[in-house]
Amino acid sequence: MMAVEGEGGRDVVVVGAGLAGLSAAAALAGVGARVTLVERRPYVGGRAYSYLHPALDEVVDSQHVLLGCCTNLIELCEQAGIADKIRWYDEQTFLEPNGRISRIAVSGLPAPWHFALSFAKAGMLGWKDKVGMVRGLMEFARGYPSEDVESVDQWLKRTGQTERAVRHFWKPILMATLNDDAGHCSTKYAGKVFHELFVRTASGGRLGIPTVPLSEFYEGVAQLIVARGGEVKLRTGVEGLMQSADGRWQVQTAAGELWADAVVLALPFEQTQRLLPRVQGLADAEVREELAAKAARFEHSPFTSILLWYDREISDLDHAWLLDTTIEWFFHKSRIRRYAQETGSYVELVIAGSKRQLHLTREEILGAALKEFEEFFPEARKARVVKSGILKEARATFSVTPGLDAYRPQQTTEWDGLYLAGDWTATEWPATMEGAVRSGRLAAGAVLGDTRRFMAAEVAVTAPMRWLVRH
Ligand SMILES: Cc1cc2nc3c(=O)[nH]c(=O)nc-3n(C[C@H](O)[C@H](O)[C@H](O)COP(=O)(O)OP(=O)(O)OC[C@H]3O[C@@H](n4cnc5c(N)ncnc54)[C@H](O)[C@@H]3O)c2cc1C
Repeated sequence: MMAVEGEGGRDVVVVGAGLAGLSAAAALAGVGARVTLVERRPYVGGRAYSYLHPALDEVVDSQHVLLGCCTNLIELCEQAGIADKIRWYDEQTFLEPNGRISRIAVSGLPAPWHFALSFAKAGMLGWKDKVGMVRGLMEFARGYPSEDVESVDQWLKRTGQTERAVRHFWKPILMATLNDDAGHCSTKYAGKVFHELFVRTASGGRLGIPTVPLSEFYEGVAQLIVARGGEVKLRTGVEGLMQSADGRWQVQTAAGELWADAVVLALPFEQTQRLLPRVQGLADAEVREELAAKAARFEHSPFTSILLWYDREISDLDHAWLLDTTIEWFFHKSRIRRYAQETGSYVELVIAGSKRQLHLTREEILGAALKEFEEFFPEARKARVVKSGILKEARATFSVTPGLDAYRPQQTTEWDGLYLAGDWTATEWPATMEGAVRSGRLAAGAVLGDTRRFMAAEVAVTAPMRWLVRH
């Protein structure tokens, strides 16, 4: 904890303007600390970013969704005045290549029965599949496992899930939330997802989608930081850090140096790992190496987006899950954003955990995606693709591999005045915007000596779950 008198007297530099850095800076600026947020790129948002694609002449982004259980992210959006730019959906549509449509929607029943009626009716699953699913979901009725030793593949086998339930329910949800294969994900985090989305509350699984491009969306948080007296410096990469004898920190950038009582490094694991050896004044080399070794245990999982602009509207759905295909999700961005119908359809097709696509050419990915998409949306065959783009994000998320918890570092480090944030730090959440916001708030709390100080309340649990859930 910093030994500085009064909260307002503190100079804090936050490095990285992704969701972790934005949330840390907003929290600290809100209690009167003198905050400078430095970001090497020309825009905020980190991996949740948008940019003007020069060849397409369009502002593009990769689809990011949030859920009702993302309480810290939602609260941050409310504080920044951008919550009204999120469109919320209580119904999910699942499409099969044979044309069958299943809809899963929240009913008026209390949790854990809020999805029961629509699951009972869903044609994508048979009765045997559904009985197994209920048995599986019951494992997460009280909460999620505290140990992260078992893989989801092992769990699916152990609980006797049917092949179709795996294909039409467990794996699609897992890919969309953990962005990796069942064999490469810990049951702890899958359990958290299923508990929060399908069991704990009726609103935890609501789907929220920003209605404007992501950097424009998160610019609102940068403005909140400035309104609270903080400073946001873009195009300012941090090249090194040094702790002086009096305990203050010198933050070195190409544009000059900044001095602070505390530094929050809100960077992805590999960038933290790269910067650590360049931190001078950290007496204990062993501790530094241990932290760098922890970061080395993390692996990336990729994400591919196929962007299509059609000359006419090709569907009246805003989004849908596509089953038994390579494409997992369809987002009708022009409808979600309420663009005029005459402008045609702007569509994003998503392939999560897309390791194979990393090695394919643009033409190969596009050709296969169009073929699959037209099977589900025959109207698309009649329309003309005006332009198309492929966004490959090789380092989209980190994989929550079984056993990784032991290597996720706390936000407080061994060194006075140096804190870590970022989705990969210990948050109990997978690689998500909510996980990043939580890490930033935990780090901001740690700067003030009270880690949980800025954390939002969880979604309120109603009866009968109130008596069941472990608190
Ligand atoms: C394609 C894609 C789809 C995704 N979909 C979803 C989704 O639907 N829902 C969801 O919740 N999550 C999703 N995620 C994950 C989510 O984007 C991340 O978990 C989250 O944004 C991570 O935030 P962060 O602040 O921890 O890290 P980052 O966003 O990586 O932020 C780190 C920042 O630090 C900056 N930086 C790095 N080095 C330096 C330096 N030396 N000096 C200064 N600045 C530096 C970087 O430029 C960056 O802005 C997705 C991610 C991707 C890529």
